[in-house]
Amino acid sequence: MLKRTLLGMSVVALLGLSVLSGCGDKKDTSAQSQEKILRVGTNPTFAPFEFQGKDSELTGFDMDLIRAIGKQMGYKVELHNLAFDGLIPAISTGNIDMAIAGITINDDRKKQVNFSNPYYTSGLIILVGPENNDIKSLKDLEGKKIGVQIGTTGAFKAEKVPGAKVVTFNNSDEQFLELSNKGVDACINDHPVVAYYLVQGGKGKMVGNVMEEESYGIAMKKGNEELTKKVNDALAELKKNGEFDKIQKKWFGA
Ligand code: GLN
Repeated sequence: MLKRTLLGMSVVALLGLSVLSGCGDKKDTSAQSQEKILRVGTNPTFAPFEFQGKDSELTGFDMDLIRAIGKQMGYKVELHNLAFDGLIPAISTGNIDMAIAGITINDDRKKQVNFSNPYYTSGLIILVGPENNDIKSLKDLEGKKIGVQIGTTGAFKAEKVPGAKVVTFNNSDEQFLELSNKGVDACINDHPVVAYYLVQGGKGKMVGNVMEEESYGIAMKKGNEELTKKVNDALAELKKNGEFDKIQKKWFGA
């Protein structure tokens, strides 16, 4: 135990920052003046949750939320731009402390990571080109070419459509671009992201209903209950003090 503590302290000294509960050591007596850093992974191609704004700074609902959570916890947030399907592996290896990227909480992912309490309710929708009048539902996608983003719930949904050819893209931007180039017949993606794309002038239209409800959560290392609790406490406080509502209004209106 003593050895572990000493080791933990020397790592902290080496890095010049204090590490969040990685070694389960609660007696962190390192200089409080030193900035505590939270390494947060995201994939900024998912407007309005995370995307690159002017000067390529990372912006969006999730970005405001995680900065507010970090502040509430007393940590500076350091954002890491990763592929969406690389986020959970990066948490597992300890390269990042957590990930926020409109990540849907599901059973498969729950086996690999801890999730915070849900912070946003979403669902999938189909996007087709402006001139497409024959695709109106998931059933109509049978045998069609469907664009999806790798490792997402939209991709898992498309893979279940009989006879469909699923074309996988690294991010949502590429997926939408391919639809406008008519390289795919339709896309499946999260409703708020597709709606935002259209509002921003993207070409196409949404068809059918929003599919079953999905909830977004912040992913953290499996079994790190201490960090999970801190994040949940911060989230609850932001909901209580009105900060969460402010962020919600900023990105989604009233
Ligand atoms: N909510 C979807 C998922 O978790 C898509 C997330 C994303 O593309 N950033 O799979």
